[in-house]
Amino acid sequence: MINASCGQSWNKRLIYDVVVVGSGFSAIAVVCNLVRKLPQTASVAVIGDDPGFGRGTAYRTEMHLHRLNVPAARMSLFMDRPADFIEWLSRKDRPSRDADFASRSDYGLYVRDTLANLLRRNNERCRVDFIKAKAAGCVERYSGTLGFLLEHGGEIAGRHVVLCLGLGNAKLPVDIEGLGATMRSHVIENPWRLSWLTRVGPLDRVCILGSGLTMIDQVLALRSHGHRGRIDVLSRRGLVPHGHARDPKPPAAIEIDARGITLSRMLHGFRQQIRSGTNWRSLMDALRPKTQVLWQDLAPSERSRFLRHALPWWNIHRHRLAPAIHDEFDKLRQQGVVNFHSGYLKTLSDAGDEFCIEYRRRGSQETIALSVDWIVNCTGMERAGLVHSPLLQEMRRQGLVVADPLGLGISVDRASRTLNSTGTVQSNLYAVGALTAGQFWEITAVPDIRAQAEQVAAQIAM
Ligand SMILES: Cc1cc2nc3c(=O)[nH]c(=O)nc-3n(C[C@H](O)[C@H](O)[C@H](O)COP(=O)(O)OP(=O)(O)OC[C@H]3O[C@@H](n4cnc5c(N)ncnc54)[C@H](O)[C@@H]3O)c2cc1C
Repeated sequence: MINASCGQSWNKRLIYDVVVVGSGFSAIAVVCNLVRKLPQTASVAVIGDDPGFGRGTAYRTEMHLHRLNVPAARMSLFMDRPADFIEWLSRKDRPSRDADFASRSDYGLYVRDTLANLLRRNNERCRVDFIKAKAAGCVERYSGTLGFLLEHGGEIAGRHVVLCLGLGNAKLPVDIEGLGATMRSHVIENPWRLSWLTRVGPLDRVCILGSGLTMIDQVLALRSHGHRGRIDVLSRRGLVPHGHARDPKPPAAIEIDARGITLSRMLHGFRQQIRSGTNWRSLMDALRPKTQVLWQDLAPSERSRFLRHALPWWNIHRHRLAPAIHDEFDKLRQQGVVNFHSGYLKTLSDAGDEFCIEYRRRGSQETIALSVDWIVNCTGMERAGLVHSPLLQEMRRQGLVVADPLGLGISVDRASRTLNSTGTVQSNLYAVGALTAGQFWEITAVPDIRAQAEQVAAQIAM
């Protein structure tokens, strides 16, 4: 890591041409593109509080069994070099076929290596400084810059700013204030801090709240740490992500225009197509490149209906598991190791040395009780993206950003430029990644983020 040094110093502030805030995949994708596009005279600062620059929550894991859920052929950092990740895998003697699902830790290494090579090889590149710090506040300066106040002092200002802050973990769906200290330490609010796994006894009973991709990661991580006890999974609908096909078919041919049509009509069309023989995975794959435009063309009321009614089904069909992971998980389910419950969590109480959970079974008034030793929050990433971030809250207070009306991050235009509280587009303040879900909807996976990162870098370099 390059130590913090200055772009241009003015009035005890360091002023850069571009400040990228964040240190996950989105930030590194933006930086890689900036290095390729900006002149040698330009300066870039990256402010991030994550020890593994480029890894973020997704690619920080050291567990080989934590696999990508997108085939290797679609995971290159660069739009114009689609084979980049495959070639990296091959250089590292890893399986490197297009359809392979590499480990997420390898992907983290690939991102880090790619950035390091770009910085090392390119002598004529712009200056890039990495500043390990949390941006705690933001100040608009008269000199046409935005200044970020660092948590432990200092200010870094940029003429252009790109917010790459990711999302926070969702809050527990139940209050734990009343629990005693011991039992409280058995509530895992953020399972991505994997150290909790070492505290679990081999036969402890674990209850996971949420049944998506995070739950599957945690079940497999528990098993690899020697856990052999019972795992209960409680979620509203008990829906689990599907697997990718082992022999994927090409995407289906679809013609669709969302302008002026309702969500139900669109879904009706898809169902008809599947009934007349189209493979549903091929249909979902055909929707991938069209999803953002479809979302933008839907009326706001229809987008809202989608979030209320279709979201859980969309997630399990769209964000699928690597086939091997799907099979391994299915085996645990069939063996009775993992048990599913669909319903609404009502209470969580401390019964001395165990938890008592009560939930109302879906579709009935029946209350079911479970006794468990651990509660793990896998209810997913926080959708709104503002609650977890004091920086964004501060920027909102100042009118620099506004929350998306549907709670999907912050409002941006189609060029990823943020809107301020008067609705004016700010041509020097961009956002990249899940924060822009209100405008683009599907903007959490690498294939979508890399395209956005390239566009934003190109606009800044213009
Ligand atoms: C477990 C998991 C698995 C995934 N698997 C895949 C996959 O297989 N394929 C795929 O395409 N996508 C996958 N994804 C999607 C993934 O989210 C994206 O690919 C990408 O990692 C998102 O990166 P990001 O930089 O936008 O956010 P994050 O990775 O969350 O990074 C945001 C960073 O910003 C930092 N930050 C936040 N606020 C501040 C601040 N105020 N000051 C300084 N720094 C700050 C945070 O510390 C963090 O490091 C997965 C996601 C998860 C969570």
